[in-house]
Amino acid sequence: MPTTPAYAAPTAKAALGPFTVERREPRPQDVLIDIQYCGVCHSDIHQARDEWGGALFPMVPGHEIVGKVSQVGSAVTTFKVGDTVGVGCFVDSCRECPQCLNGDEQYCDRGSVNTYNGRDYDGQPTYGGYSTRITVDAKYVVRIPEGIPLDRAAPLLCAGITTYSPLRYYGVKPGSKLAVVGLGGLGHMGVKLAKAMGAEVTVLSTSPSKRDDALALGAAHFEATSDKATFKKLRRSFDFILDTVSAQHDYNAYLSLLKTDGTMIIVGAPEAPTPLAAFSLIPRRLKLGGSMIGGIRETQEMLDFCAQHQVAADVEVIPIQKINDAYERMLKNDVRYRFVIDTASLK
Ligand code: NAP
Ligand code: ZN
Ligand code: ZN
Repeated sequence: MPTTPAYAAPTAKAALGPFTVERREPRPQDVLIDIQYCGVCHSDIHQARDEWGGALFPMVPGHEIVGKVSQVGSAVTTFKVGDTVGVGCFVDSCRECPQCLNGDEQYCDRGSVNTYNGRDYDGQPTYGGYSTRITVDAKYVVRIPEGIPLDRAAPLLCAGITTYSPLRYYGVKPGSKLAVVGLGGLGHMGVKLAKAMGAEVTVLSTSPSKRDDALALGAAHFEATSDKATFKKLRRSFDFILDTVSAQHDYNAYLSLLKTDGTMIIVGAPEAPTPLAAFSLIPRRLKLGGSMIGGIRETQEMLDFCAQHQVAADVEVIPIQKINDAYERMLKNDVRYRFVIDTASLK
């Protein structure tokens, strides 16, 4: 069995440290991937600290995986050894429910198999990309187009698709006035992608120090939400709000910023629920929706869109030994704008 050095959280209360994972021998439909980079998503923190409940330990996080195919199973026709590929948040799904048949495997009725902190359909725990190798069914692997530097491509596998998919689904188009709430990993991808789609983007942030970055990333405007006057000033300004915030905050306050018939899209996943007033939605016929990552076909579409529009993540590459510091910095909103692990540091 291929083994790989990895980093794992032993329990919800402990720091991550070295661990060894055994990967399965590639089956006919599998590819074995040498992982080169893995992005660090805030979901890694939520899960490693069991903030969403039901966490499985030891946990090897990481679902923004890029690397090269090092072995292919006998039935694989879509990839060959040496191909540059990516793996996102799930590695299997039932393949027969309406969502799977429609390419929305992330909403699989049986529950898609999470890349980590999940159980494969054979009952084995899954371990993610804070490691040097992974075996994945080729159907759940995407191709990284040429022209995107690999470290900057890794975050596209979660932060990229999580923001691309709802922008498309909810109909953001040229001229749409869109606010992105929270300028972290997801938020900065939301800004770049929405701008590439022709939207007029405003960043709403608790960190006034991110103003220049927001404008450089493609936002037309930046507003500090720490200043309560901002909510008065921006009342009824936006067609869409993309909420990427990782901690509890007041949805009602942000809904007040939508125009009539506006839509607020929640992708940020705080651990605690927030009260929602009916009258935040009723008077202007507002819509409140959610969205979870994206399907395999759409992930490939997003990657090709990024290559075409020269969009990639802004990253700070770290050795795995810095992972616990990186988590602390993300919790202080001090990430510009995605930490990416260079897995060479594991060898
Ligand atoms: P991140 O890089 O840590 O960014 C989160 C940003 O939220 C921070 O940089 C900060 O931006 C803002 N923020 C933090 N605390 C806040 C507060 N109390 N009030 C207002 N704003 C606050 O995290 P991420 O990786 O982008 O992930 C964001 C969230 O999306 C997480 O909850 C994650 O689990 C979730 N997620 C969901 C999906 C999905 O499929 N729906 C996929 C991936 C991740 P400012 O400094 O600009 O205020
Ligand atoms: Zn993620
Ligand atoms: Zn399914």
